Amino acid sequence: MAATSTVLVTGGSRGIGRAICLKMAGLGHYILINYKGNQAAAEETLSAVRAAGSDGELLAFDVSNGAEVKQVLGGWIEANPDKPIGILVNNAGIKEDTLMMWMKDEQWENVRRTSLDGFFYVTREVLNGMLLRKAGRIINVVSLSGLKGMAGQTNYSAAKAGVIGATKALAQEIAKRNITVNAVAPGFIQTDMTAELNEKELKAMIPANRFGKPEEVAHAVAFFASPESGYITGTVLSVNGGLYT
Ligand code: NAP
Repeated sequence: MAATSTVLVTGGSRGIGRAICLKMAGLGHYILINYKGNQAAAEETLSAVRAAGSDGELLAFDVSNGAEVKQVLGGWIEANPDKPIGILVNNAGIKEDTLMMWMKDEQWENVRRTSLDGFFYVTREVLNGMLLRKAGRIINVVSLSGLKGMAGQTNYSAAKAGVIGATKALAQEIAKRNITVNAVAPGFIQTDMTAELNEKELKAMIPANRFGKPEEVAHAVAFFASPESGYITGTVLSVNGGLYT
């Protein structure tokens, strides 16, 4: 692994993804900031990446749309042979919580398509170059819900558990090529996704007695991305204040 590389962060416009972009920019990497629709937020991330002393660019595509991933990401890869993607962070995700008995087809599908299908489409697109170069780091942002299951989140828990299974399988497929595949499983982290939750009430069940910060998840991602982590693959690292592992 080279010390610096091009890093693709899906869902890099806000929250945990933005913190990952900034952490990796601080380490000198070139940052490809993917987002779905929030261009203003993505531009803020890019300005912060530049303020951190690095550079990057925006790449808008919907990770759940296979044709769009192929066209936009595949097209970018073809047009930029001088910037091979050495680190991929599959971070884009959504939640649409409700009890299963009331869950609509779209709620099941939207969440699965974003986290699980998105992982598949984006990783497949980036993988070929990593295999040819015999180097790479793939880090998937999953969730505590995918490890323990969470009531009201059968869709989200299933999608994240699916990504954990795929992480372990892909790690075994490509370890010989010097490519690692790992997952980071956050608990409750302060972002737009958790903005409507009552932290005061919920923190009582977290041993650390607080929600985590996006930067604390980014730190774990940077650990897996580092050149020194080459013998660590197929693992899931919890970042949850001791809530559950
Ligand atoms: P967030 O603040 O809601 O941000 C979500 C990000 O994902 C945004 O950048 C959004 O882009 C992007 N995104 C959503 N759907 C997309 C799609 N189809 N294609 C491309 N980008 C898409 O969420 P977050 O809390 O930072 O969560 C980041 C990841 O951590 C997710 O996978 C989430 O499941 C996981 N996670 C979060 C927590 C938590 O407590 N926050 C806990 C465990 C796991 P736009 O800005 O364009 O909408």
